[in-house]
Amino acid sequence: MSATPSWPDTEWLDRGWPHVWLPYTQMQGADLPLPAVATQGTRISLADGRQLIDGIASWWTACHGYNHPHIVAAIHHQLDRMAHVMFGGLGHQPAFDLARRLAAMLPGDLNRVFFADSGSVAVEIAIKMALQYWINMGQPERRRILCFNGGYHGDTTGAMSVTDPKEGMHALFSGLLPEHYFADIPADDAGFAEFEDFLDQKQGDIAAVLIEPLVQGAGGMRFHGPEILGRIHGAAKKHGLLFITDEIFTGFGRTGAMFACDSAGITPDIMCLGKALTGGALSLAAAVATDAVYDAFLSDRTRNALMHGPTFMANPLACAAANASLDLFEGENRVAEAGAIEARLAETLAPCRELTSVADVRALGAIGVVELEKISDLAWFRRRFIERGVWLRPFGNIVYLTPALTIGDSDLATLTDSINMVVAEWSEL
Ligand SMILES: *Cc1c(COP(=O)(O)O)cnc(C)c1O
Repeated sequence: MSATPSWPDTEWLDRGWPHVWLPYTQMQGADLPLPAVATQGTRISLADGRQLIDGIASWWTACHGYNHPHIVAAIHHQLDRMAHVMFGGLGHQPAFDLARRLAAMLPGDLNRVFFADSGSVAVEIAIKMALQYWINMGQPERRRILCFNGGYHGDTTGAMSVTDPKEGMHALFSGLLPEHYFADIPADDAGFAEFEDFLDQKQGDIAAVLIEPLVQGAGGMRFHGPEILGRIHGAAKKHGLLFITDEIFTGFGRTGAMFACDSAGITPDIMCLGKALTGGALSLAAAVATDAVYDAFLSDRTRNALMHGPTFMANPLACAAANASLDLFEGENRVAEAGAIEARLAETLAPCRELTSVADVRALGAIGVVELEKISDLAWFRRRFIERGVWLRPFGNIVYLTPALTIGDSDLATLTDSINMVVAEWSEL
């Protein structure tokens, strides 16, 4: 064995490059990605020795920072016993403990946890649960989901079909995706009147209303208040519809509450979880159902059962990481930390409001957003941030922060200073 070189060579990057297909990338003319070699806390180390401060916690997953010793230890402990075993016919303590603990912390009687291996798959399962709920209840004509413009629910085809029509490329794949209904998130009484009219007309074919509660994430970090969320929930219930919340982004403290639904005091019929569920260490997701939804699948007939079972569902390593993450939520004050981050983001990003190129500045929990009138050169922004030693990935017209909830004041200040400087520079171009 050779000693680890202090400047690890990156030959692997050039050798693998002809064989790797990157996410959301036009590969023609694409730049090589930055070679990451290690992570710690809120830092990403690159092969050339540089460190970047991570402002987005690896797509909103690493809520306790990277390599939290408690999560690392839990994974090691589980790895020595059993990295994986199938969940069909075999049970294991990490998954059973996790299901029990999630049921205890989720609102109301969200008591049944169906595990999946990624967020998109959890959304697919939630859709299937909702449709089959109505089949089992003798109303198979309820086959549509009512979703919202600006929403994002994942990249698999079923999840695309409930994502914003433009973002979900519905035109490109027309005829292939199931057609669901789309509405704007109502903002005022007139909006709610229109929304209720729509539900009156279509309620016979609608199975469920699906929403990202409080924040539409990948669709543009758009916020709506808990009161709006409560009213949408109320309208869905009044019309006898199932209500599904996709908390894959908002869950686990991100919005300043443990779950966004808690802010509105509502219990959805089905809730999707993912992203920060394992503290960002491994891929795990879940669709969690209330007793009433679950009970609709109980029957003498096999065909009433939920026919789903991802090969790696409830992976023991991932469940062990998730249990360790829940320990940290229980033992440390993550949700309060998110609240403190909100106050700092609101204050430190406020100067951007004065810039001509800026349309809006907003913060909720550990989410800070500077929305520009237009970003015509995303690559320029991304480059400028890397030059300043921060890892931020603006998209659409927004520059945003979703740091680890544990981020320290000085790293957070470096991130917000960088945003202020780079957006100011852009405004003068
Ligand atoms: C990221 C995300 C998904 C998809 O999760 P994957 O693990 O990427 O499949 C679904 N819904 C929301 C709200 C998300 O933010």
